[in-house]
Amino acid sequence: MTFEGSYLGANDRISPRAIMECKICWTTYDPAEGDDYRQVLPGTPFVALPDDWKCPGCDAPKAQFMVREDPGSDEMRRAAVIGQKTQALVADFREVFNAKMRDVPIVNHALHVEAVGFRSHGPDILGVLVSPWFMNLVLLPGDTEWPALKAGEKEVIAFPSGEYEFIHNSREMVGPYKACSLFSPMADFNSQMQAVDVARAVMGELFKDENREETDRAAEIRAAREAELAPPPEPAELPVPDLRPSRRALLTGGLSSGTSE
Ligand code: FE
Repeated sequence: MTFEGSYLGANDRISPRAIMECKICWTTYDPAEGDDYRQVLPGTPFVALPDDWKCPGCDAPKAQFMVREDPGSDEMRRAAVIGQKTQALVADFREVFNAKMRDVPIVNHALHVEAVGFRSHGPDILGVLVSPWFMNLVLLPGDTEWPALKAGEKEVIAFPSGEYEFIHNSREMVGPYKACSLFSPMADFNSQMQAVDVARAVMGELFKDENREETDRAAEIRAAREAELAPPPEPAELPVPDLRPSRRALLTGGLSSGTSE
């Protein structure tokens, strides 16, 4: 007989930080402490205990333990969601390539569809999608459902390095997504590795505020000065910042060779 919450060897359902409890004698196993009795070092996750490890209190086998508390389970669940979403995204665009793009002259056959650096971004998931015909920053819903997105609608999203224009879209497998074009077409890339390196660099540079364009900063200062000098401010007359992605600034240090636009 089992009851809900029993571990029963399901290593993929508990995180390395899980604190486990014997369901017979309530002895706990805390990875931070290890197990003196059987000389298990502190820092050893429950899943890494030898198969013949037994409860220090009552000799019950490992499978009789249940999760008491798992501080790492949210991270695990999150990682699983990111994995599923990015797989669906890649599957969707492989399908587009096979169905529509394969024979189009602009495609770079040295490249293939690959999701790079996808990670949590607030409640959403952010990464770079590399393909034979474009490289886009892509935002996907993570924890929260998005309201239906209208294909083609534009949205400006701020990052530490500046503001970027994303276009709303939706596909069968991945569902709604927002994409910001970084490169298209991809003729300047010599290899998948080079494209992936640039994609990784984008994910780093995006979050550096020193990449914010000087012109934007100047416009902000000018706007602030004008607001000071001529109250009441007329928002309509303030300079409109240039919202185009500053790819060159974004990629400073990220491009070593051969991909100048
Ligand atoms: Fe026990």
